[in-house]
Order: sequence, then C-alpha cells, then structure tokens
Amino acid sequence: MIFSDVVIIGAGAAGLMAAATAGYRGRSVTVVDMGKKPGRKILISGGGRCNFTNENASPENYLCQNPHFAKSALSRYSAQDFIELVDRHGLNYHHKTLGQLFCDNSAQDIVDILMTECEWAGVDIAMRSEVISVNKNDTGYEVVTAGESYQCESLIIASGGLTMPKLGASPIGYKVAEQFGLKVLPTMAALVPFTLHDHDKQKFDGLSGISIATEVTSEDGTTFKENILFTHRGLSGPAILQISSFWRSGQAVTINLLPETSIDALISEWRETSGQKSLKNMLATVLPKRFIEALIKQKDISDKAINQISNDEITYLGQYLHQWQIKPNGTEGYRTAEVTLGGVDTDEISSKTFEAKKAKGLYFIGEAIDVTGWLGGYNFQFAWSSGVACGQAV
Ligand code: FAD
Repeated sequence: MIFSDVVIIGAGAAGLMAAATAGYRGRSVTVVDMGKKPGRKILISGGGRCNFTNENASPENYLCQNPHFAKSALSRYSAQDFIELVDRHGLNYHHKTLGQLFCDNSAQDIVDILMTECEWAGVDIAMRSEVISVNKNDTGYEVVTAGESYQCESLIIASGGLTMPKLGASPIGYKVAEQFGLKVLPTMAALVPFTLHDHDKQKFDGLSGISIATEVTSEDGTTFKENILFTHRGLSGPAILQISSFWRSGQAVTINLLPETSIDALISEWRETSGQKSLKNMLATVLPKRFIEALIKQKDISDKAINQISNDEITYLGQYLHQWQIKPNGTEGYRTAEVTLGGVDTDEISSKTFEAKKAKGLYFIGEAIDVTGWLGGYNFQFAWSSGVACGQAV
C-alpha cells in the first residue's frame, strides 16, 4: 500500500493543477490515471493548439444549476493568473477571437508546463492505473487500482466527464459521489455537433464544408453570433457547438443567416443597382452560392429577377433567411462532444474548497461536477480555478 496525504484520481487539467498546488504546500501527493500519458484531452484540445483560457472568463460563461457556484474559484484564480503561469514558463501563444488564447506551437506545451510544475512540487504520478474502487476507512480513503492500493487523508476526484470514451472518460467520479450519498445531476453531451433528420440531410447533401457567419438562438432565448458549418452528418461550427449546450431533444434552433444586414435593405439596394439580375445571383453575393442553390432546388426559395419580387415575397424571404428554423434529430453524443453537462451537484460541494459537504476529505473538481463552460477556453479555466482552490484546501 502507498501512503500519501493527497490522492488525486485523474491526471487531466484539473487534477494536475490541484496536484502542483497541494504539492507546493508541502503535502505529499499521488495522482493516479488510467491513461498512458497525462493530459490527453489537453493534447487534442483546440485542434492540437489548446485554447487554454479565455481572458473574459466570468461566471456568466458557465452553465450550472447554481449560477453563483463558480464565482469564488474563478475570482481567486482567474485567467490572468493562468496567463502569468504560462508567461513564467515562456509559452508562446496568441489571441484568437473573443478573448480566446491558444498555444502558438502545440498543446503539448501546456502539458509540459503542468508536468514541470508537478515535478517541482514533488508530485508522484502513476499512469496506467485504472481506479477500480474507493473505500472510506478510519484514516481517510483507500483508492484501489488494478495493481496497487493507495491510502490518503484527502481524496480529490478529477476524473472528468463522459466525453471521448476513447481518451479514458469514465463515470468513476459520479459513482464515487453516489457511493458517498451525493446527488449527481443527469448528464448530457454538450459543445457537440447536431445530426439532422433524413429530409434535412438530403436537402443539404453536398454542402459539407460550407461555413456561414450566423446568429443562432435556442428556444430558451440564448444567442451566439458565430459560424455554422455543414457536415456530412448535420451541422457543426462554433455557433452550433455553443447552442448545443442550451438545446434539448425535440426543440428547434433559429438561425439568422444574415445577422449583419436585413434582406429588406439588401433588396431595396439591389432594386436600385441590379434590378434585372436574379435573386439567386444576388443572394450568392452575401451567402455561399451552393447553399442558395440548394434552397432553390428544394423550392424553399424561388428564383426570379430582383425587380419582380413582390412585398409578400420579401416578407417571406425575411422570415426564411433571418429566422431559418432547424429541428435537429439529435447530437453526435459523447463520442465527439467537448464536454459533459450535469454531473456532481454543486449543492453538495463547497464553492471555496470543493470538499463534499457530506464527506469530509473528499473533493470534486473540474468537469466531473455540474459546471460546464461555453466554447472558448472556459472549460480549461474552470479546471485550473477549481484545481487551485482545492489544492489550497486539502
Ligand atoms: P479530463 O481532462 O477529462 O481528465 C480526467 C482524467 O481522469 C483523464 O485523464 C482520465 O484518463 C482519468 N480517469 C477517468 N476515469 C478514471 C479511472 N477510473 N481511473 C483512473 N483515471 C481515470 N476546453 C477548453 O477550455 N479549451 C479547448 O480548446 C478545449 N478543446 C477540447 C477539445 C476536445 C476534442 C475535447 C473532448 C474537449 C475540449 N475541451 C476544451 C474541454 C476540456 O478538455 C475539458 O473540459 C477538460 O479537459 C476537463 O478537465 P478535467 O481535468 O476535469 O478532466
């Protein structure tokens, strides 16, 4: 049996951050993870460049049943704090849109920084160690893996959510929570592409790869102004991934295909300058031509000369293009989702220390708990913030 003050299940973003923080405080720390390499999700994140934080991260960018829960951790360890850490390690990075920061070189740089911090803090990391069970005893917790058993005073569960089972996602965090009487909220794949019903799929067959700058709104009124992308299975792109966290089965999403202008204004302008030209050709100046052709082919829009379009037809066009309704068939699920909605109920956890209120010495951080960030570096920021808050408390 191996003894440590602190055992952490999960060598992902949250677990490594908590490990280094607790190690620097003089706690002996062992991290166990079933993967071959630490930080596997970090490595594939942001297209291999890891969108490691968002400069504007604030509690409003997170979905959680308790909207105040993330406040304390995010304010005590903010995006600026993580930026200071990567600056100290000399990371080269760049700003993309909307406050998103990405590595210039590779996501491996972020894993290297975390591993260096863990080494400096004297943390032990046991990879290829799948946790099979967790038991409470007189001196704390016993964590059993296939080949070893670990005894600790404080146990941190940083085992993530259910997305990407190929990368070691497992429900261990939820199982341990339930074992100790903590409520686990229903989970759902989020930040995930939509699949379409067959009739819509046929309609947009051949459009795969086309991207349109839009404004997408869910039935609860949440709106994101970003691109959508047609895929072989349905719709993706940042606007769709964002809205997927707010979409529920059976609901529609409304897509404004021309968020920067109004079709009324465009047609008035075209009447002046291009009255003889076809609607198809003029719409193709503001939207992808193949998309317009698909709408005309399906008879969703009829083509005619601009100066022959009636006012009723303009009203219809306005409704169609500014309030394009799509009812997804579903999502691509945990296989391709970036995050898991739901998880360990935050009512069960201290927002200051991340300790379970009903189980002294047991902590939950990162994606395993019911805090889900928007797309754009927010999820890693919560992993860093919750990791630090917990690492300071154990
Ligand atoms: P994880 O990083 O999932 O770590 C959990 C660890 O626990 C894993 O290493 C796993 O092997 C281990 N584990 C699980 N069960 C067991 C067990 N039974 N025994 C032992 N070990 C176990 N977020 C962003 O902010 N920016 C991005 O650019 C971004 N891109 C992403 C791209 C993709 C494709 C995906 C899937 C996600 C992306 N995310 C991004 C989300 C982000 O990766 C997660 O929110 C974040 O990794 C959560 O960190 P975590 O430490 O809580 O969990």
